[in-house]
Formats: sequence, C-alpha cells, structure tokens
Amino acid sequence: MSRPAAAIVILGTGSLATARRIQQMYPASLIYGLAERVAGADRVYTDFGDNLRQLYAQDTPIIALCAAGIVIRTLAPLLMEKGAEPPVLAVAEDASAVVPLLGGLSGVNDLAREIAAGLGIAPAITTSGELRFGTCLLNPPSGYVLGDVELGKRFVSDLLAGEPVRIEGHAPWLACAQLPERPDARLAIRVSSDARAPTADALLIYPRNVLVKLTTAVTAQVIREVLLEANLAWQSVACVVAAETMMADAQLRDVASELGVPLRFIGSDEDLAPHSLTWREPEGAVALGVAPAPVVIEHLGRARGRLAVIGLGPGAAELMVPAVKAELARANDVLGYETYVRMAGPFRDDQVMHCTDNREEMQRARHAFELAAQGRSVVVVSSGDPGVFAMAAAVLEALHASSDPRWHSVDLEILPGVSASLATAAQAGAPLGHDFCVMSLSDNLKPWNIIEKRLDLAAEADLALAFYNPISRSRPWQLGVALEIVARHRTAQTPVVLGRDIGRPGQTLRVTTLGALTPDQVDMRTMVIIGSSTTCTFPRVDGREWVYTPRWYGQKPE
Ligand code: SAH
Repeated sequence: MSRPAAAIVILGTGSLATARRIQQMYPASLIYGLAERVAGADRVYTDFGDNLRQLYAQDTPIIALCAAGIVIRTLAPLLMEKGAEPPVLAVAEDASAVVPLLGGLSGVNDLAREIAAGLGIAPAITTSGELRFGTCLLNPPSGYVLGDVELGKRFVSDLLAGEPVRIEGHAPWLACAQLPERPDARLAIRVSSDARAPTADALLIYPRNVLVKLTTAVTAQVIREVLLEANLAWQSVACVVAAETMMADAQLRDVASELGVPLRFIGSDEDLAPHSLTWREPEGAVALGVAPAPVVIEHLGRARGRLAVIGLGPGAAELMVPAVKAELARANDVLGYETYVRMAGPFRDDQVMHCTDNREEMQRARHAFELAAQGRSVVVVSSGDPGVFAMAAAVLEALHASSDPRWHSVDLEILPGVSASLATAAQAGAPLGHDFCVMSLSDNLKPWNIIEKRLDLAAEADLALAFYNPISRSRPWQLGVALEIVARHRTAQTPVVLGRDIGRPGQTLRVTTLGALTPDQVDMRTMVIIGSSTTCTFPRVDGREWVYTPRWYGQKPE
C-alpha cells in the first residue's frame, strides 16, 4: 500500500505522543492541532469542524485522535453529497483503539490494519466481506478499477451467503485471499479491459492498461466510439497521450478531464516503446495502445508542468487563501526567499525546498521554469500578494524574455494573497477607505528622483499613502526625505499607521501623526500608511484608536 499523506488531527496535547507515532508510519502526514491547546503541531486550526470538513472535501485521508462520535457528527452533513470519500479513522488518544469510520472503498480498513499493527493492537474491522475473505473485493489495488459499486455490493453479499466464485483473467492480488473458488461457479470475478455489459453474476474489474493516443484534439464522444468499436472498456483507459507540441492545447485538457484520466506528453513514439503496447487503429487520429498490465502513469512520458506564483498573505495561516493552501499541498518544488519558504511549510519529505537569497529574483524565476518544464509542479512563494513588489512580475518578465517553447507550455498561474498594506489597514480600521496610492520607497530598482516626483504628486493629489520597503540599512536617509515631501502637502496632525510584522508573532500596530513620525520608528518589516486630508481617528473602548478615511470627498452626502 502506498504511504498516504494523511492529516492527523488532534484536539489536545495529550494526543501528541500517539500522533507522532502514527506520523512516523506515514512521514508525509501532517499533524493538525487546535490553536489554543496544542503547541508543536505542523499545522494549527481554530475551528475543529471547519478544518475537518475542509480536509474531507479535499480528499485528504483523516486520522482523528478523538471520539468516533465527534468525527461522525462533524462530517455527517457532507456524507449526503456525492464527492470525495477519503479514508477516515478515529484513534483513541492513548493508542488503545483504531476504528475505521468512512472510506471503505478507498482503503480505510487497510489503513486501520497498518496503524493497528504499528501500535501493537487489533483494528476494529467491521466489514463482513473483509473479515471473511481477507480482502475488500470492492477496493482493487491501484491500477485496477471496479465496474459498478452497487452491483458489486450485491455480488459480495451473494458470496457471503455461501456461493462459490471463479476468477477469470489475471488478478495477482487475489492470490492470498480466502475465496470459495470453484471452476464451475455461477459467480465470476472478471479482470479484463473488454467492454462488457454489467450483470449481477459477475464482478467486473478493469485493469487500467489502455492508453488513448491523440494526434489532434477530438471530443470525448469520438474517443468513446473508437473504444466501443475496438470492444475496449472506457474504464480501462489509463491516460490520454499526445505530442509535447500539443501541451498547451485547451481542448485536449478538456477531453482528458471529461474522461477523468491524466494527460501525458511524449517527444516521439519511441517514448512508448518500453510499454509493450499492442496497437488498435495505430494510424488514426485516435490510436489505442493496450499494455499487458496496468500502466504506471509516472513512467509514461511526462505531465504538463505547472508553475504557480503564490502569495502567503502577511503570515497568519487564517489569512492565506484556500487556493494557495491547495497549491502548496500539490507542489513538488517550492522556491523562494528562505524566510517565506519556511513560512509556507512544513513540507513533506517528497517536496523539495529551494531557498535562495532575496535578491536573486530573475535567477529564481528561470529556475522555476526549468523545473516546471520537466513536468513538475512548482510553487514560487512571496509574502503578501505575489503581484505587489514581489515574484509574479519577475516570473512573467523571465517568460517574456524566453523563446523556449517548453517554458511557454507550462501551466502558469498567479494566486493572490492579502498584501501587507491591506492587512495593516484592516487592523487599524479603514485608512485606505478612499482613493490611495501604493509605493515602494526602495530605490534599488528605480531612480530616487522618480520616487520623489511620485511622492510629491501623490501627496498633492491628497491620496492616502501606503509605503512598502520604507527603510533599510543600505537605504537609511530616504524615508526622512520622503516624509519631508509629504509634509509639504499635509498637516502635522495627519494620522499615520505603522504596522510591524502584521499577522506574524510579535506583531505591533501603532497609530501616530505625521508630525510625530520619525524614521527611527520604522524598519524594513514595517508598513507605513499616511492618511489623506480627510483621514480621521477616534477612540476604541479598549483605549486604542480607530483610523478611517471616509468614502466621500468634498461635501458630506446627506
Ligand atoms: N508582496 C508583499 C510585499 C513585499 S515588499 C506584500 O504584498 O505584502 C516588502 C515590504 O512589505 C516590507 O518592507 C514591509 O514594508 C512590507 N511588509 C511585508 N510583510 C509585512 C508584514 N507582515 N507586516 C508589515 N509590513 C509588511
């Protein structure tokens, strides 16, 4: 059995020891702990129910160290919907019981047996078929698919009622099952890629050994017709294969997703030679290759590479968008400035981290394309939003400058994040509630006279101002000059917000005024927001202050 990347969910520190033992069996798994009660978890959550339901919906195997009843009640609303059904188990926090709850068809009993063996106890298996035959007939190993679950359940109950069975075709995993086999039995387990109508007296299991090679993108309907003519079952299709030159073809992608199979790309037909395929319609637009055994997709050609440039948000996990979390989970490679890569983690053993210096942006972008062009799933991390003084523009610049078709074929996506100015503004109230201007005060990549000019004009235009990169050791005097320019157009009472390490441990938020602001109150981890002429403040009940800029300008509307 492959080692799943499960979520081990715990509610208190008392479960940590057992969680760690299970994690050792599945090193790719992550321990999820309740924020206020568990220190030392890989991931924290604040709401048990939301967290569990999100994991379930994402098809993540769940090992919950708590009462079975809690898990059942939490997931119950999702069970009516047809969707993901990952294995879900409850494990007693003292490691005395392992109870498979859900996911009978996705291997929950195998998982329960493995965990129980690791903990030195007996699993609470309740599935009759498994107890009797030593295997779940409805859950064939990877590379094989079951034809029809409902017919399958009836078939297994007939077997449990005492009927004998015969096996047709090659089913190596059934060799050590305790099945009541008889050559003349009415019931048959049929393992074959032949297209057959489902019947009650046969359990149809399809090996995924057929590949569909396309020389041009056709519809799924055309592929189904060609399969039918060749008497091959659509369930046996392992993947759609096409030439690397077709990698960015959207229609091809749609066809593969409609068939529910992966898409692989080859340089030439030579790449298929090791798979001993027998061809049907080899010259047609839809050629069918049949392999003697299930095809191992990872060994066949390569996938279309993916490159996602993501924004982590300011730091706190709750402020990271779900699409970014999902992207991090699927990544093979993670690139970025070391601080941000660490913030995006922890990562599984199979994920490769490439930490670089913050200044090597173009080099990092090119490295990311090289990895993605090999068919890998690559993530480039930025803090906040990747499009705000961060990696997205560098990645696009690298692509723009490249004429390499492999780079242009990469599935490139930019996923947004909560930028520091927005995270800081939200904590202070709404200082950016009206028109505002965002600037980086760094003159590393632009001349200082441009910065001065923009500051002058933006301040004159009475825009609220948000400064990124306000100061650093190598740029000590610039902020002072910037404040002088702003002061030409604003009163000393203009509210100023300083957010430092917002959304990170030790964050501070300070509300002051332009007159009282000096550069020594600011460092490179600070966001500076300077109000416009209409920005105002008033006290909060806790003694601090709210800051906001009204949405109207000029005359207050009635
Ligand atoms: N892409 C990032 C900005 C990178 S520029 C974003 O969208 O937020 C780096 C600057 O952003 C820092 O010098 C600081 O001014 C600001 N910054 C980034 N993270 C911050 C945080 N957590 N709190 C306050 N300011 C932050």
